Amino acid sequence: MSNSEEKRVQNTSLAPDKVMHKLVSLAKRRGFIFPSSEIYGGLSSCFDYGPLGSEMKKNIKDLWWNAMTRRQANIVGIDASIMMNPTVWEASGHVASFNDPMIDDRTTKRRYRADHLIENHIEKLRRDGKTEQADRVQAAYEAVSAAPDANRALYELIIGEAIKAPDTGSGDWTEVRQFNLMFQCSMGAVADTSGVVYLRPETAQGIFVNFHNVRESSRMKVPFGIAQIGKAFRNEIVKGNFIFRMVEFEQMEMQYFVKPGTQLEAFEAWRERRFAWYVSDLGISPEKLHWYKHDKLAHYADLAYDIKFEFPFGIEEIEGIHSRTDFDLSQHQQYSGKNMEYIDQVTGERYLPYVVETSAGCDRLFLALLSDAYNEDVVDGEQRVMLRLSPKVAPVKAAVLPLVKKGEMGEKAEQLRSELSASFLVQYDDAASIGKRYRRQDEIGTPFCFTVDHQTLEDQTVTVRYRDTATQERIAMAGAKLFLAEKLM
Ligand code: ATP
Repeated sequence: MSNSEEKRVQNTSLAPDKVMHKLVSLAKRRGFIFPSSEIYGGLSSCFDYGPLGSEMKKNIKDLWWNAMTRRQANIVGIDASIMMNPTVWEASGHVASFNDPMIDDRTTKRRYRADHLIENHIEKLRRDGKTEQADRVQAAYEAVSAAPDANRALYELIIGEAIKAPDTGSGDWTEVRQFNLMFQCSMGAVADTSGVVYLRPETAQGIFVNFHNVRESSRMKVPFGIAQIGKAFRNEIVKGNFIFRMVEFEQMEMQYFVKPGTQLEAFEAWRERRFAWYVSDLGISPEKLHWYKHDKLAHYADLAYDIKFEFPFGIEEIEGIHSRTDFDLSQHQQYSGKNMEYIDQVTGERYLPYVVETSAGCDRLFLALLSDAYNEDVVDGEQRVMLRLSPKVAPVKAAVLPLVKKGEMGEKAEQLRSELSASFLVQYDDAASIGKRYRRQDEIGTPFCFTVDHQTLEDQTVTVRYRDTATQERIAMAGAKLFLAEKLM
């Protein structure tokens, strides 16, 4: 940035706790995200994407889909049904163990995750320098899963450590109980247990059960991947933080099937590619992304990492990368009685492939992108709010603004809008001063504004204004389409 540009644009620093409040309000005001069924008081942890939100979400999904299927020679996509034969969830282990341990506070009537209370307590002990006590509690916590009564062991740890609720300071605890996160509903006219079906809690199982269908129909050879974007449902005990933790959300998952023994190599390759995607395709600041290695692995996994993002409320997971061994295929083989093995056509070897999965949450990523992009600065002495979204992610790619609404200028602008809108989402705005119109576009992250002015009528050029620097240049009106196409490559 040159000195003169620096004078035009000055960043104002923002306290992280204020950012969430501002994001929620902007999201509603400008049509990104609304509370679900708001006129009836809403529904906890359910949200609707508005006109701009649904465009931006579609952009995120398209970027993921292109990166994970179309640009990959050996990955194909599917769109499986949300409801599946209920035995799928017995085989996957979700019926027996997709549980969270919950505990209630009798006085405040609030509900908490027992494991979260203990983990937060350990973290606090470490922050306070009480390392010995933290190590002791950590060891006891790690031994919980092997205890004859895990719920009792968690409860005793909470009581023994006098752990209080982080938000209220109260600690009038009930016993710990396990709570299954799957939503149950009944299929058919009779609401008895024979018709129980579940809303899928993850998209992965739709991929595993279709392993042979996809392999055969698409003539795939190991290693190959199957990708899917779709809704998942979890009856989360602890909700909150806007769209970070929802009960209905969208996952973008890819299961990569490999020969046993090669999974760690595939894992490393996917770890690298997935991190790079956030930075290169989505434009997220790399310093806000963090790796987290799971020390405590799920029983079926042999390696697991999370990609975490620095949200305004803390560093939290946006994607999990898991090496899941052959657990899922062997479970489905056992429960369905169907052979799930792969036969190598060249060597004749038979085996159950191992799986490396990349599992990202679309809504969490949406929130990460919004919070990464939120920016307040002063342009030419005037305060503005700007979403510094990458042009690929931004819902509106360009605005077309006639300096004067009526007459030839308006007609030219309408002609440009119509030409551009065949390929891009553009907005036409002729209301209020040009400065106000720029601010409106800055606030929704529109990267470019084309202004049709007096000179346009003389030489068929328009000004293009860049959102981030607020600088302008003139280009031929006929070149606007190519200009946008190049910026979006
Ligand atoms: P968490 O520990 O935060 O509950 P998880 O480890 O259970 O997440 P996974 O089962 O690995 O999550 O799901 C993969 C991705 O799906 C997560 O990285 C996250 O982005 C997204 N996700 C999971 N649960 C939710 C939810 N309740 N709301 C929104 N996104 C979610």
